[in-house]
Amino acid sequence: MIATESIDTVDADVVVVGGGGAASRAALSASLAGAKVLMLAKAPLGVGGSTVHGASEIMSMGASGYGAKADNPEVHYRDTMAAASGFIDRELVRALAEDAPQRIRDLIDYGVDFDRVGSDAYKLIQSDFGSYARALGVSGKTGKAFVAALNEQALARGVQVRAPATLIDLLFDAQGHAAGVLAFDASNNHWLVVHARSVVLGTGGAHGLFSQQVSTAEMTGDGQAVMYRAGAELVNMEFHQFGPALVHPYVQLFSKSCFVLHPKMTNALGHEFLGDYLPEGVSEEEVMDEKVFPFTVSNVSRYIDISIAAEIAAGRGTSRGTVLLSLAHVPPQRMEKTIPNTMRWMKANGVDPQKDQMHVGIAFQCLNGGVRMIDADVRSTLPGVHVIGELAGGVRGPDRPGGNSLAEGQVFGHRAGDAAARNALARDTDGKPVGDAAIARLRLALRPNASFDVCDAAELREVMQRHVLVEKNAEGLNEALAVARRFEDEWEQGGGATPATLHGVLTMQNMATTARVIVEACLERRETRSGHLRTDFPDRDDATYGRAFVQQRAADARSTFTPLEYPAAE
Ligand SMILES: Cc1cc2nc3c(=O)[nH]c(=O)nc-3n(C[C@H](O)[C@H](O)[C@H](O)COP(=O)(O)OP(=O)(O)OC[C@H]3O[C@@H](n4cnc5c(N)ncnc54)[C@H](O)[C@@H]3O)c2cc1C
Repeated sequence: MIATESIDTVDADVVVVGGGGAASRAALSASLAGAKVLMLAKAPLGVGGSTVHGASEIMSMGASGYGAKADNPEVHYRDTMAAASGFIDRELVRALAEDAPQRIRDLIDYGVDFDRVGSDAYKLIQSDFGSYARALGVSGKTGKAFVAALNEQALARGVQVRAPATLIDLLFDAQGHAAGVLAFDASNNHWLVVHARSVVLGTGGAHGLFSQQVSTAEMTGDGQAVMYRAGAELVNMEFHQFGPALVHPYVQLFSKSCFVLHPKMTNALGHEFLGDYLPEGVSEEEVMDEKVFPFTVSNVSRYIDISIAAEIAAGRGTSRGTVLLSLAHVPPQRMEKTIPNTMRWMKANGVDPQKDQMHVGIAFQCLNGGVRMIDADVRSTLPGVHVIGELAGGVRGPDRPGGNSLAEGQVFGHRAGDAAARNALARDTDGKPVGDAAIARLRLALRPNASFDVCDAAELREVMQRHVLVEKNAEGLNEALAVARRFEDEWEQGGGATPATLHGVLTMQNMATTARVIVEACLERRETRSGHLRTDFPDRDDATYGRAFVQQRAADARSTFTPLEYPAAE
């Protein structure tokens, strides 16, 4: 099926998949704990994923101990639990709040130069759901700065890297314990069989399932699909973050700092539309001043997202699927003061905010749900597989304090890397991979099927963009579900791949599966809560839906949902 000369076999104690903030930290920590580590990432190091690509005026990571004396891990814990009680694991949240200060300290020691005010105070951002300003940043490109520092440390310690190389499947031994991964190394077109006694997955979110998103294109929900197919438990998959973003001529999330400048927003007909959506007594100024990112029904600024999405859906957007935003009326000095990072990026990308109109859409930013972490060693429900960062679920619910995701990657990346190394070094079995499931999947992907078309990913992205972001209802969600299922069902007849297209065909299956999992979760939650706005169930229903669901693959390959009673805050 695949020529044996194009298969490389590599041995490691720990294989870490992903090249973002969480995976980079895990690789370094596994190495510090004495393991032989192989890291593989779908995009070249320093290029792919949200941590290194993400940019916003205030991109930052939260930890107590760097600002107000009254702020401490207990307050951080309480803030996080208050944002999502019932949906998150308090033991994990405690670990996050307690470890975050030390993980930031590590980054400082590795040379990360967090923004300062004067010479001895850090510049801190007060994020939504935070009682105190506690989020540190590096000029809006925080992740890029700290991933570079982590990778420098990891490479200096001898961590091996294969990138661009894609995780295709997990490998298990005869006892069902992780025994490594099957990957595809795009740098030499070789298949890669990695034998490892511990696996850490940090493949991030599912941005590539949407037409408009603020991360990189290779983020196609591979980790979620691979883990779901293997039987892992997922949680909170209906909750994701999105909001207004500049999508042309370059991509950048637009947060509060842009909206407090009161931009003019027009549709393709030149009409200023925001006022058309506001109820009596709510002014345009008020919703702009209150703007939060991401979208949430609990804040009056929701009308910005709702109106942008509705104008585009009604066909009054531009041919790029956007509305137009102008800051031409804002004095340049005010812009320089309010959005200095954005001004720098605009100039670098040839945008003149005094003249140019900007294309703004509603872009997917990140998943709050993920593969369930079951303990503070960040194990998943599959033996030997740890999950970290945006791929993992358990500390982000319907809402989360801003800055927690980047901190989470550091805290649980470290814990997972450390635990994975300890477990791998303590395991004396050589755990040879069986690999039947991975081989069966490759065979299916290569089975001829003229009707399966990888290029149709655009259809999936469009339907997800239209029905699975701002306003959701059963009709639209079922339309998206039908498209995802059609792809999956066609794929089951054969992926029609050639050796040259195999990688794309496998990715397409992952996209369809992760899209279906998200849509099924959105359908299951028949209420409105935070960013999950169901126009057909507009009220919050704590009695029926005030908790998380564990989502798992059933025998018929569809999802089952079981309520999960996360204990309340202590
Ligand atoms: C624009 C933007 C602004 C944000 N602002 C903030 C903020 O201010 N504060 C905050 O806390 N959070 C913020 N977030 C969220 C946060 O950045 C992410 O949740 C976090 O960085 C995710 O880190 P990660 O390491 O899990 O994944 P990522 O950084 O996304 O990395 C995933 C990695 O996995 C690789 N990968 C994917 N699939 C495969 C595969 N099949 N095989 C191998 N490798 C694979 C990718 O190439 C990438 O290297 C923001 C996100 C965005 C996009």
